[in-house]
Amino acid sequence: MQDHKYEHIAGKVKAYINEIPRNVTVVAAAKKRDRGEIRAAIDAGIRIIGENYVQETEKVYPGLKDVAKWHLIGALQKNKVKKAVMMFDMIETVDSVELAGEIDKRCGGAGKIMPVLLEINTGLEGNKSGIIPEDVKDTAKTISAMKNIRIEGLMTMGPLADDPELSRPYFRIAQELFLELKGADIPGVEMKYLSMGMTASYRVAIAEGANLVRIGTGIFGER
Ligand SMILES: *Cc1c(COP(=O)(O)O)cnc(C)c1O
Repeated sequence: MQDHKYEHIAGKVKAYINEIPRNVTVVAAAKKRDRGEIRAAIDAGIRIIGENYVQETEKVYPGLKDVAKWHLIGALQKNKVKKAVMMFDMIETVDSVELAGEIDKRCGGAGKIMPVLLEINTGLEGNKSGIIPEDVKDTAKTISAMKNIRIEGLMTMGPLADDPELSRPYFRIAQELFLELKGADIPGVEMKYLSMGMTASYRVAIAEGANLVRIGTGIFGER
């Protein structure tokens, strides 16, 4: 039974890696998955694991910490920052100067420099986290002055929709911001990664410039 599940995961991983362009990397979105499932994905070729919660990550990553990169893709509470900076190789969900300041402070204490993505609220949704597009440039400038953080790109979810085409305008907004910031050449900001697209929408996201796609159910099955 377990073997069958792991084979399924391996097959999915290989199919995604085969399908997507070489410059795009699959982040396996692993919330609620156990260590065996995550191990199966890594063994099949996944190089980046995305986790939503610090506490869940602590449970699964002993033994796997060094065989993949770990990205935080869920909202980060201030009281979890200290742990998060020790555990993650990238924080994709920086959505305020305050949070960035806390990450900077904790990284300073740990002698670490944290690559981060700025999360953009492309849909201007009141209930969603993320920086609104018109504030992104100023926010990037402010955060870029922090010594222990390196901005390496942008991340967005966009409003969830059944039809992936409905995500396209939001992905395009993120891509335009990405290119604008890249062109702005802000010292300390290196626009390398655009993280967007999930199981239902990764193809549209790649067409709109994503080079990190976060895929959960497509790899691991229904949650
Ligand atoms: C769960 C999750 C994903 C993956 O979603 P699927 O629809 O399962 O592929 C991507 N990004 C974030 C931030 C998530 O929480």
